[in-house]
Amino acid sequence: MSRFSALSLLRGAISGHKNVEPQWPNSELKSEYDVVIIGAGGHGLGAAYYLAKEHGVTNTAVIDKGWLGGGNTGRNTTIIRSNYLYDESARLYDHAVDLWDGLSQELNYNVMFSQRGVMMLAHNVHDVQSFKRHIHSNRLNGVDNVWLSPEQAKAKCPPLNISSTARYPVMGAAFQQRAGTARHDAVAWGYARAAAARGVDIVQNCPVVRISRGADGAVNGVETARGFVKAKKVAVSAAGGTSVIMDTAGVRLPLESYPLQALVSEPVKPVCPGVVMSNTVHAYISQSDKGELVIGSGTDQYVSYSQRGGLPLIEHTLAAICEVFPSFRRMRMLRKWGGVVDVTPDRSPILGKTPVGGLYLNCGWGTGGFKATPGSAHVFAHTIAKDEPHPINAPFTLSRFETGRLIDEAAAAAVAH
Ligand SMILES: Cc1cc2nc3c(=O)[nH]c(=O)nc-3n(C[C@H](O)[C@H](O)[C@H](O)COP(=O)(O)OP(=O)(O)OC[C@H]3O[C@@H](n4cnc5c(N)ncnc54)[C@H](O)[C@@H]3O)c2cc1C
Repeated sequence: MSRFSALSLLRGAISGHKNVEPQWPNSELKSEYDVVIIGAGGHGLGAAYYLAKEHGVTNTAVIDKGWLGGGNTGRNTTIIRSNYLYDESARLYDHAVDLWDGLSQELNYNVMFSQRGVMMLAHNVHDVQSFKRHIHSNRLNGVDNVWLSPEQAKAKCPPLNISSTARYPVMGAAFQQRAGTARHDAVAWGYARAAAARGVDIVQNCPVVRISRGADGAVNGVETARGFVKAKKVAVSAAGGTSVIMDTAGVRLPLESYPLQALVSEPVKPVCPGVVMSNTVHAYISQSDKGELVIGSGTDQYVSYSQRGGLPLIEHTLAAICEVFPSFRRMRMLRKWGGVVDVTPDRSPILGKTPVGGLYLNCGWGTGGFKATPGSAHVFAHTIAKDEPHPINAPFTLSRFETGRLIDEAAAAAVAH
């Protein structure tokens, strides 16, 4: 596959971009692989890429029931940050931020990573104390995070209402400069292209209906809509569909799947340079390069596998946006959509081995797994290749729900992000 460069762009421009080659082949499913990955989102495709690049495992298929990146990877609001409270999470999410920085060069594909900063607003004494605790904890872990006054917060985002008469006035903000956004589907496309170039098969529109186990209890393959595929190892990165497919292997999970929505406004000139989040009033916003305001909503209150959420959530979110940014009241919304997120009781992912030999699990990212994509995929590939966790994902076991050694990031995940 040819590389993108200034010269190749120039050649393309001269030829009218008539000879654009496919970025990855639509592979036929073979009858046998070393590794089958279920789910062609960023996490699954990324794991396939790092398996090939860092561990020499190229006889891999990434199988998706739909089109690649068509799950939560292509539906999220693209916020990236690593200002989580606990040491385990800080290490995992900051590993991802380190890899985001340089991912475009690594993949030779522009994922438009933009470190525009993420600001989390504090609206009451509890918020102030909680965010300052996060800042201290982050700094001890080498994660950048600083406290801003309301005026400093407004300087970073001029439409922000810092009036002291607001229902929940802005009392300050925690700000992570290394945080930001990236182009979500470019992440899936970039990993797919780079993995395919190393020999990985990417098979779309092929649901996996069952994970098969042999007489010894270990996995031996998967049943798909196109027939049985033998596999020495099976890795599941199926987000909202995880509990359903894992059930077929006899593994029940502490997961609940919920619809989560987002929406965008009509495009306007640049008004909001960074990402602003308000856990208390419950909304967050950023501005896309096209000018649309990208607005995140919350999860539905009831579990569901439908990729659409209820209208009350959207109404609540827009009410919150109008409260925090009164000048946005006259804007019209362009479109909304939903994904299905898989949520664990402690709001932290499950990333590692399972009780079944040869079966690996990457799930439970809830409303916030896009930001972790490169870091998670990187350590997941290590776990699959070596059959043991990387030190970074070692705490994120399934067994923590039996031992009680939880990593409770409910506060960090208070607003869907
Ligand atoms: C509206 C919304 C906003 C969000 N905002 C953010 C944000 O700002 N920042 C952030 O960090 N995170 C955010 N998230 C969460 C984030 O999108 C996810 O955590 C992350 O993308 C998960 O990636 P993944 O690769 O694990 O899953 P996905 O991208 O969902 O990929 C899983 C794939 O598995 C496939 N699959 C499932 N079952 C099967 C099967 N049986 N056979 C074959 N294929 C199967 C699906 O088709 C899907 O393509 C948001 C999510 C949503 C829905």
